[in-house]
Amino acid sequence: MKKDSRIYVAGHLGLAGSALVRSLERCGFRNFLFRTQAELDLKNAAATDSFFAEQRPEHVFLAAAKVGGIHANNTYPADFIRNNLQIQTNVIDAAYRNGVKRLLFLGSSCIYPRDCPQPIREEYLMTGPLEATNRSYALAKIAGIEMCWSYNRQYGTRYLAAMPTNMYGPGDNYNLETSHVLPALIRKVYEAHCAGRREVVVWGTGAPLREFLFSNDFADACVHLMMLDNQAYGTLLSESFPPLINVGYGSDVTIRELAETVCRVLGFEGSLVFDASKPDGTPRKLMDSSRLRALGWQPKIDLETGIRLTFEAAKPILDRNLVAAAR
Ligand code: GDP
Repeated sequence: MKKDSRIYVAGHLGLAGSALVRSLERCGFRNFLFRTQAELDLKNAAATDSFFAEQRPEHVFLAAAKVGGIHANNTYPADFIRNNLQIQTNVIDAAYRNGVKRLLFLGSSCIYPRDCPQPIREEYLMTGPLEATNRSYALAKIAGIEMCWSYNRQYGTRYLAAMPTNMYGPGDNYNLETSHVLPALIRKVYEAHCAGRREVVVWGTGAPLREFLFSNDFADACVHLMMLDNQAYGTLLSESFPPLINVGYGSDVTIRELAETVCRVLGFEGSLVFDASKPDGTPRKLMDSSRLRALGWQPKIDLETGIRLTFEAAKPILDRNLVAAAR
């Protein structure tokens, strides 16, 4: 990837996509293609293909997806499988037909079996049943990995799939119905703090373990992968193994510990109440990211620093919500 290579970031306004743009800009790239959802509906195959044919991107980061937390995944499984299959099928196929040099497909650690050994290695893909709360999303992402691999084998493309662990950072979704756990906790703790309440409700038992990666670190990993020379990049693309690579932080915390850290960072001294009527989801999904580390990437932002940075970015949005709710 050269400094003036034509780069399309699909989903550039999302949590991962916006971090990708910041990371690419920091590295000196400047020839970007962006389209909002209103400008280009990636669920529409013809529109997606016309865009690629007209704009001829050379490198594609496929960060456009329908994403959400445990409740959203569990409640709208049809939307998650349909939207994600449509978006990724259209983009991967248009990339092939219009000569894209490298494509990086973004997945998720939920693609791995629910009860697989920890830390999770790439080889554990499809070795057991999936977690029920996000199976439709996970299957769509598995199909995306398989599609990258199939195109590589049949057409000689060079597509790779990066599997991030639970990601967080500026620009996240703070809707409590659809968000992931970290933005939800930041919002709940901040609102309790502002209202002088003494308790915050945390879903589930607090026992599940999750690994959290700051979005800037994830984006740096993706750019690092795209910038690998042909020889190093080629080691990730094998005939005999799907082209996927884990991108994790390296250690995990319980949801209880996570909630306590959010309270500490935000200066909230009340107590946590666990609502066990809500699902825990998978008990643990710590990834083994040693392949990526061997290629020279490692995360820079620890969880507490990341939560502080995320909260600073979110505070104006949360304040606006509070003012709107008070009206
Ligand atoms: P998951 O990693 O796919 O399970 O997705 P989430 O980030 O939505 O949830 C992670 C864990 O945090 C689950 O065990 C949830 O039950 C728990 N959790 C605790 N409080 C909340 C909350 O307010 N919102 C969400 N989304 N999850 C919560």
